[in-house]
Amino acid sequence: MADDAQPHEHEHEHVPDADAREKAEAEARRRLALAQIRQYGDPALRLIAHDVEEFDDDLQQLVERMTVLMHEAQGVGLAATQVGVLRRLFVFEPDEDGPRAIVNPVVAERSEETELDDEGCLSLQGVKVPVERATRIVLEGKDPDGEDVRLELDEYASRVVQHELDHLDGVLIIDRTDDEHRKEALATLRPRAVLR
Ligand SMILES: [Zn+2]
Repeated sequence: MADDAQPHEHEHEHVPDADAREKAEAEARRRLALAQIRQYGDPALRLIAHDVEEFDDDLQQLVERMTVLMHEAQGVGLAATQVGVLRRLFVFEPDEDGPRAIVNPVVAERSEETELDDEGCLSLQGVKVPVERATRIVLEGKDPDGEDVRLELDEYASRVVQHELDHLDGVLIIDRTDDEHRKEALATLRPRAVLR
């Protein structure tokens, strides 16, 4: 999922040139990362991922690679299907607590209360659409070492994980929004999909 937040203000002063160079480098890294993330029109985004069975080195490396890509793309979540790997796992970082990965996630509880808010997606560049999500969710699954995890999440974190869970079932935010916003989003995405 893409991050809506403004870039963090620097606490100390920079020489203007160094600041500009830092920004340009971050932007270059963001573009490189996005180029490695499957974009709308790629069939991998529409496929259902399979449960992870082996918690081996390959899985650890995948989690590391996805975490780096999420950071460099300046996103708050990334699912394996977005890097063309059809396995049920995603990484996310909705707050300052650092990145986390969850493998074979299942929804244990979901609040009846929902909230409508705009969402972006690293695979649908330039698109932001309102999506209704449960305000609170409990997820159960494994960490990359195969240990059981249970996460109780609310507000933004709840939204982020529901977005990433959808990716594991081939569901995108344009499927979850209203007709008007879907039409607008498709108009933004179509020229790119044809160019690929
Ligand atoms: Zn997404």
